[in-house]
Amino acid sequence: MAAKKIDGKTVAAELRAKVAAAAQQWTQRHGKAPGLAVVLVGNDPASEVYVRNKVRQSEECGISSYEYKRDASCSEQELLALIASLNANDAVHGILVQLPLPKHINTAVILESILPEKDVDGFHPVNVGRLSSGMEGLVPCTPYGAMALIQSVHPKLDGLNAVVVGRSNIVGKPMAQLLLARNCTVTIAHSRTRDLPEVVRQADILVAAVGQSEFIRGDWIKPGACVIDVGINRVSAADGSTRLLGDVAFDEASNVAGAITPVPGGVGPMTIACLLRNTLVAATQSRGETLPAI
Ligand code: NDP
Repeated sequence: MAAKKIDGKTVAAELRAKVAAAAQQWTQRHGKAPGLAVVLVGNDPASEVYVRNKVRQSEECGISSYEYKRDASCSEQELLALIASLNANDAVHGILVQLPLPKHINTAVILESILPEKDVDGFHPVNVGRLSSGMEGLVPCTPYGAMALIQSVHPKLDGLNAVVVGRSNIVGKPMAQLLLARNCTVTIAHSRTRDLPEVVRQADILVAAVGQSEFIRGDWIKPGACVIDVGINRVSAADGSTRLLGDVAFDEASNVAGAITPVPGGVGPMTIACLLRNTLVAATQSRGETLPAI
């Protein structure tokens, strides 16, 4: 039987609607909207598209967005000065620095300069530590969104085997922490893992974050598993056209899995929705208020 397709577009639209309602109430209470600053250095076309989408969806949800574009030649000191000014700006509740940064800028130094309470990407070491300690904090958007999709299929995850393929700081590691917090038995696989297909076959929940198109094959999947494909790979066809493929061979996996996210239309739409949620969390906490249930 073909797997249930997990519809990230719909789940993301529902989350954005809740964020918009809560943002409207926040604005009524405080006389101005929650604010998100988006910083873009250089002119990487993919980053420009991401930033445009973030700004547009912020505005649609009633969150004010402030865009700061800097040339690729911008120095680390200039960027640190910009972030210091945003840290001190009361209208800005969330700060997002679009990655990747140009090579001459130390990404870790920049991310660490953002106040943890405005770190809506959840990449600051304080928020990383909070997540791994099981404390409240701002959680990276893509894993948070992936978790929401998993829970749309499995509200209770206790004791399930979860395998995360990929150990990056922005996807794999925080994903594993979130699954552990929901009482899964978690394995993190990576490029040095031995017999990866056999490791993947143990997964009741599989999260693929590898960055290689159709890397995970159908015969690696445990029958009935929930498959979350984080990968976004732009692949060229012979006729010169391009299309997006995930890290999982979708057609093969669909014949075996119980539920699966498509690419596009799965995890992708959740990432920005979770960024907007994090901005609302940051704004709410800046006033010592309790976040409505979203
Ligand atoms: P990274 O390149 O930072 O990490 C990739 C991971 O995959 C690494 O841990 C690497 O292992 C592992 N890996 C690479 N080759 C293999 C292999 N042959 N076998 C097993 N593991 C392997 O990527 P990201 O985590 O940043 O992104 C992963 C994917 O998710 C990409 O396609 C990216 O575009 C997508 N993405 C999607 C987002 C969304 O909004 N949906 C947001 C962010 C990312 P090792 O550590 O050993 O090198």
